[in-house]
Amino acid sequence: MERILISACLVGRPVRYNGTDKRHGAAEIIARWRDEGRLVLLCPEVAAGLPTPRPPAEIRGAAATGATVIAGHAPVIDDTGADVTAAFLNGAHQAVALATQHGCRHAVLTDGSPSCGSTFIYDGSFSGIRKPGTGTTTAALQQAGVRVWRETSIAELDAMLRG
Ligand code: SF4
Repeated sequence: MERILISACLVGRPVRYNGTDKRHGAAEIIARWRDEGRLVLLCPEVAAGLPTPRPPAEIRGAAATGATVIAGHAPVIDDTGADVTAAFLNGAHQAVALATQHGCRHAVLTDGSPSCGSTFIYDGSFSGIRKPGTGTTTAALQQAGVRVWRETSIAELDAMLRG
């Protein structure tokens, strides 16, 4: 049984910065995975002790991504100007520990998040501008050998697991 680390907001937990969840159109597949006992839920930001709701945060730096933050070369800043890098790194480390504990080789994380993004994040200007890149938790998981899928690829991962 492949266990899957999954962003808690995708499973309906209202843990996003604005107090909402991020339920997805693949809810049927997620429900089946849950019934099969596959799911390992985590919100890395909440696990790191950040409150909900919380100010939105972005990785600062035109070319910076989660890997840049992990390398110590860029901060994560919230929209009040507070440096929340330590919390984001803490959440990323907890994700790797949880994936290791449960033997997860796959994670499904919410794209666009400064923690969970896998194909895009925001550019650090809080103006809604996207850039290609990963969040801090995604980068840490990938460095640990976990394959990270965005939520729009749930059906693809499900087909692979069933094939
Ligand atoms: Fe969802 Fe990840 Fe943001 Fe938590 S950090 S609310 S799991 S996208």
